[in-house]
Amino acid sequence: MNEDIQEIIKRLKKENISFENKTILVTGGAGFLGSWICDVLVEQGAYCICLDNLSSGRPENIRHLMEKDNFRFINHDISYPIYFGFSFHPLGICIADIKKIDIVMHMASRASPFEFKQEPISILRSNTLGTLNTLGIAKFHNAIFFYTSTSEVYGNPPKEAIPTPESYFGHVNPVGPRSCYDESKRAGEAFIKAYELQHKMRAKIVRIFNTSGPRIRHGPEFGRVVPNFIHQALHDEDITVFGDGSQTRSFIYVVDEIEGILKMVHKDEAIGEVINLGNNKEYSILELARVIKDITNSNSKIVFKPLPIDDPLYRCANIEKAKNILNWEPTTSLEEGLKKTIAWFKDNE
Ligand code: UDP
Repeated sequence: MNEDIQEIIKRLKKENISFENKTILVTGGAGFLGSWICDVLVEQGAYCICLDNLSSGRPENIRHLMEKDNFRFINHDISYPIYFGFSFHPLGICIADIKKIDIVMHMASRASPFEFKQEPISILRSNTLGTLNTLGIAKFHNAIFFYTSTSEVYGNPPKEAIPTPESYFGHVNPVGPRSCYDESKRAGEAFIKAYELQHKMRAKIVRIFNTSGPRIRHGPEFGRVVPNFIHQALHDEDITVFGDGSQTRSFIYVVDEIEGILKMVHKDEAIGEVINLGNNKEYSILELARVIKDITNSNSKIVFKPLPIDDPLYRCANIEKAKNILNWEPTTSLEEGLKKTIAWFKDNE
C-alpha cells in the first residue's frame, strides 16, 4: 500500500500539487476512499482532520495515522452539526482549537447496494443533512468545498447515454431500492448549487464510478461486485453473477481515482464544475467474473442469480472533461488493479 501512496504523491508532484500546510477536513476519512485521501494529505504535510462516526469506516484504515502530529481524528456523525473555531454553539458540538479550515471534503456515505436495504436512513442523512452541515463549515471558514458524488446520480441510463457525460440529467427511480443513495446524492449536489448561487461558495463536485483496491469493504454483508467475486474466487466458492451478467460497469483502481480527486481538489479550474472520475473502458459483469477467476486460478463455478431491482444495465464514464480540466485519465489496467487488490485480500481477509 505504501508504494501506492508514494505513486500518487509522485504523480501529483509532477504537476507541483501539494497540500502542505493546508488544513483539510475529510468527512468519511476512515472509509475506503477517505482513508487513502488522509494518507496522502498527512504524507504531504497537510493538517488532516478526519471526521468519521465509524459506522462504515474502519479504525484499522487510520490506526497508523493516529500518532502523527498533523492528523486528528474526530468521532462524529456529520448529519449532526459540528462547529470548528467556536467554543460554544447552541446547535451542536464545538471544536474550539481548530480556527481555520482551508478545504472541506465531504466524503461520508455508505455506498454499497447491499446497505441500501439495511441503512437507507443514515445514507439519506449523510448526503443531505451532512452536506448541509459541511457546507455551513465551508461557508464559515471561507473554504473550498469538495463533494464526492457518484455515477449513481445517472440512475439507469439508456445505451445512447453511454459513456455518460456530466451533462446527462439521469434516469432515476425516486422510490426504488436504490433511491436512498441516488436521490440523496442528487439532493447533495442541489444543496451545493444552492450555496454556489446564494453564498458564492467555491465548490467542486466529483462523480465517482466503481472504484476498488486495498481497503475496499468486503464480506457478505457489503456485497459489492469486485470484493465479492475476489472472496468467492479465493475460496473456490460459486461466483454469483446477478442476471445474465451482460450489465456493464467501468472499474477504476483506487490509485488512479485518488490522483484524480486530489488534482480536482487542487485546481482552481475545477471550481464550479461537476466532473466524472472513472474508467472509460466498459466491461460486462460476466467478463469481470472470468477475469477474476483466471487471475486467482480458481476452481469456482460461475453461477447466475436474479438481477436486483433497478440494477443499472450500463455504466461507463465519459471522461473528456476530466482530461481537459484536470489533465487526468486512468492508467492502471483492469488486470493490474485486480492483481493488486487480490494480493491485499490475501494478506488482509
Ligand atoms: N453483482 C453481481 N454479483 C455480486 C454482486 C454484484 O453480479 O455478487 C452485480 C450487480 O448486480 C451490478 C454489478 O455487479 O450489476 C455491480 O454491483 P456493485 O454492487 O458493485 O455496485 P453498483 O455498480 O451496482 O452500484
